[in-house]
Amino acid sequence: MGKPIIQTDAYPQKNKGNSIRRKIDLNKICMDYGVRVCSYKSAKKLLKEIDYDPYETKNPGISFRASDGTPVILFDSDRSDLEIRFTAAHELGHILLGHLDYRSKEKDSYPNYAELEANFFAISIITHDILQEYAAMTNI
Ligand SMILES: [Zn+2]
Repeated sequence: MGKPIIQTDAYPQKNKGNSIRRKIDLNKICMDYGVRVCSYKSAKKLLKEIDYDPYETKNPGISFRASDGTPVILFDSDRSDLEIRFTAAHELGHILLGHLDYRSKEKDSYPNYAELEANFFAISIITHDILQEYAAMTNI
């Protein structure tokens, strides 16, 4: 996996309890779970393997299991940092919530309930980011 490509913007800050506040490190979670993360631009071979054109679908990201079994997240690196972070969290949600086996090849998508679950997963991470930022700003 090379250098981290999902923006984490960790900002350690000590509070009264001496603990360190930071955003959830999506790169570490992906590494710990063996998830391969690449931009569309650096994953042409993988995109060909699954016969997927992300520029045609305009999806900000996708997740799937590669032929060797590795879970993979691909994302559009031309989006904003926040979009990329939300997309990576959403796709990680699909992987950690066990959705990979329910991906429909024909429709290149997950069932609606899986999209809802992945959105809740991503929203919880972004909400955590916002609250950590607020806590760091107000020093509570
Ligand atoms: Zn999804």
